[in-house]
Amino acid sequence: MVKVRFAPSPTGFLHLGSARTALLNWLYARHTGGEFYLRVEDTDRVRSDKKFLDEILTDLKWMGLDWDGELVYQSGRFDEYRKAAEKVLGSGKAYREGDAIIFKVEKSREIVVEDIIHGKITFNTDQIKDQVMIKSDGSPAYNFCCVVDDAAQGITHILRGDDHLSNTPKQILFYEALESTLPEFAHIPLMMGSDGAKLSKRHGAVSVEEYKKKGILPAALANYLILLGWSPGEDREIISLSEAVELFDISDMGDVQSRFDDRKLEWLNAEYIKNKSTRELIPLLKEKLKEHGYSSNVLDKDKFEHLTKAYQVRFKTLNGFVEGTDCFFTDDYIKEDKGYRKYLSSEEGKEILREYARKLEGLSEFSVEAIEDACRRLADEKAIKAARIIHPTRVAISGKTGGASLFEMMYIMGQKKVLERMKKAAR
Ligand code: GLU
Repeated sequence: MVKVRFAPSPTGFLHLGSARTALLNWLYARHTGGEFYLRVEDTDRVRSDKKFLDEILTDLKWMGLDWDGELVYQSGRFDEYRKAAEKVLGSGKAYREGDAIIFKVEKSREIVVEDIIHGKITFNTDQIKDQVMIKSDGSPAYNFCCVVDDAAQGITHILRGDDHLSNTPKQILFYEALESTLPEFAHIPLMMGSDGAKLSKRHGAVSVEEYKKKGILPAALANYLILLGWSPGEDREIISLSEAVELFDISDMGDVQSRFDDRKLEWLNAEYIKNKSTRELIPLLKEKLKEHGYSSNVLDKDKFEHLTKAYQVRFKTLNGFVEGTDCFFTDDYIKEDKGYRKYLSSEEGKEILREYARKLEGLSEFSVEAIEDACRRLADEKAIKAARIIHPTRVAISGKTGGASLFEMMYIMGQKKVLERMKKAAR
């Protein structure tokens, strides 16, 4: 049975690259009916923090991943590492240096890594110095405890980032010394930033947490990460986790680095938002509004649903929705200067607003149709195009030049607020 693991160090938030590694391991386990474990690499007691671990676990669950068995904490296994190191010491392949235990690397040997993604990669031990197993402070060195754990957990496939490739020959030496079965290795080409350099803070948001905050949906992020370096074929770009479980195979992964492209992710996210039912989308929008300090209760259930439908196709992220619809939830909405300059700086624009407001005031029923009809009537009377009324009105009530259909916006906002804002803008 395939057994894979994701081994985060809880020294920071979940980086997109790590999230991708976790996802690919999970997909491979679920595709093969195998098991996916989590191992917490918290040997660095100073930098490891429970708050990071909690966030990592929350983010993995948020993306739709689950794991098998209990978490393994390296901090709780120091005795095992010492025992294993002493076994190697006993076999004469290591020596002590003070309190440290060091593995003696045999010179001039070739070590071949048969990598599933990259093929055969050969290393020479002349390039590898003797390897610390246990440091003088009693803590294990990364390459050693990683092997002790992978062997103890019976890990069959190690899928991890390319940046670990140089660790692999050292780890292979430890497998030999511990007389453990070698797993298969697949080193995943790293994810680069848009400029081709390793994806880092410099490129902007790099943690799952930040994308969650921006209002990227978990399914869209997972979908995007899956597509980097792997394709379901037929130019398909939208794929759910469950479909990817069916189709994904690690051996189909390309050995080229991929570039992380924010715009592509946002495009995918927009597709996911568009395809959600209002029933699914509404709770997410309400949650986001709350995060931004707005109360969704200013609109009743029907109007909130109407708003969702009217804007669902217009936004790439949940935050985009909140920014674009702020005028429905606060009087302190974002006001675009250019709209005011273009449509409301002249007396003519203001006069149109006053006249339209007068017509709207007279409406007994403030329905989309009645609002639109009032606009058409005014346009006829003045022999002007409806657009000459629509543009200044939209800016007056929303501060924006874009948005949903004006008449729907006005209906959702309600007669009182609409008139208030139109009159204010006309002054
Ligand atoms: N803790 C290591 C990391 O976060 C794990 C490396 C591995 O998968 O072997 O990069």
